[in-house]
Amino acid sequence: MDMEAMYQQLGVSPAVYQFGEEILAGLQERFACIDQTAEYNQGKVLHAMQKNRVNATHFAATTGYGYNDDGRDNLERVYADVFHTEAALVRPQITCGTHALTVALSANLLPGDELLSPVGAPYDTLEEVIGIRESKCSLKEYGVTYAQADLKADGSFDYDAIRAAINQRTKLITIQRSKGYATRPSFSSAQIGELIAFCKSVKPDVLCMVDNCYGEFVERLEPSDFGADMVVGSLIKNPGGGLAPIGGYICGTKECVERCAYRLSAPGLGQEVGANLGLMPALYQGLFLAPTVVSGALKGAIFAAHVYEKLGFPVVPAAAEERHDIIQAVELGSREGMVAFCKGIQAAAPVDSYVTPEPWAMPGYDSDVIMAAGAFVQGSSIELSADGPIRPPYAVYFQGGLTWYHAKLGILMSLQKMVETGLVKL
Ligand SMILES: *Cc1c(COP(=O)(O)O)cnc(C)c1O
Repeated sequence: MDMEAMYQQLGVSPAVYQFGEEILAGLQERFACIDQTAEYNQGKVLHAMQKNRVNATHFAATTGYGYNDDGRDNLERVYADVFHTEAALVRPQITCGTHALTVALSANLLPGDELLSPVGAPYDTLEEVIGIRESKCSLKEYGVTYAQADLKADGSFDYDAIRAAINQRTKLITIQRSKGYATRPSFSSAQIGELIAFCKSVKPDVLCMVDNCYGEFVERLEPSDFGADMVVGSLIKNPGGGLAPIGGYICGTKECVERCAYRLSAPGLGQEVGANLGLMPALYQGLFLAPTVVSGALKGAIFAAHVYEKLGFPVVPAAAEERHDIIQAVELGSREGMVAFCKGIQAAAPVDSYVTPEPWAMPGYDSDVIMAAGAFVQGSSIELSADGPIRPPYAVYFQGGLTWYHAKLGILMSLQKMVETGLVKL
């Protein structure tokens, strides 16, 4: 069987396959750059593992209090070395990205302090954490106020507004690297570095935290290489490499991370407790694979952008644009387009390929939402997935892919479904 026949067996017509191959022929240089970044980051991870003498004893399971858990403690040293920080907190007890961010914020903000976002509104789930939307146990309820400086219309930092927003009570500045579900651009580590330098020039002792979700290993340098006091993220996104079944990380200064550990467990206990429950092999090996996995996801995002841009659909970021995270938005312009796209992603999955995604009401959303995911780890978005609210501009957010070949198949299948529904003519 030749390649085209293999794809036909998977449900991709020769016309769709050929369309994809033509696009790919023009992407070789771009892909070579991504491979270089992956190679560099693989070296960074390997160096950290070698320096910390990772060995089989570090993979042992611990239970109960988890005292003297050398595997866990060493993984935190490895993370600290990868992100070039003094310390790290990397735990399965951190349940998700929102939890990691909540720990980082609530550990380092006290009543009377103010939190500032200089990059506009934060990720949806942080609204309740901060108290922008009323919630029990929000920072607001504990007497922490919130200020925001919006980006300028062109997506750049509004330095005048930021300077004006920083005051005596400003304790911590939160910077979200990835655009998430917003329409603003994502920021490079270097851009974030400029912002941090500016904030610290206005107020030298202000803490700068970066929500690093979806950004890890996309570039050679991380925001922690540019002065961030904390970088925070989820292990079921980039740094877990698809193998971590749960967890979050906070890398940063010794002082910040120690406070986070006291907040996560208890004052006085900190990092000394927290059994690893047998998850160390997955967390180490996932980190080891992460640079390669992220490179595959990036290739998928760029391939999708080129395919759909060529067909006339608006894509964010644009096909030729530089990447700072793994998310690709495609504006399909109709409910039918979103459904067809998501059906294709679902049909390409290794798990649950036979189910049909349908738009549905979801808590917290004011319109129906459609989601496609056939993941080994529930909700993992480093695995190939697509979702979006059914409302104008009918944009699907596409991300992940544990291998480039799977991401490629997912995009070809999405196009196949668009063609079959008559929404696209090749
Ligand atoms: C995913 C994400 C979060 C929240 O992470 P969860 O694991 O879904 O709680 C926060 N910020 C950004 C930018 C994200 O992409």
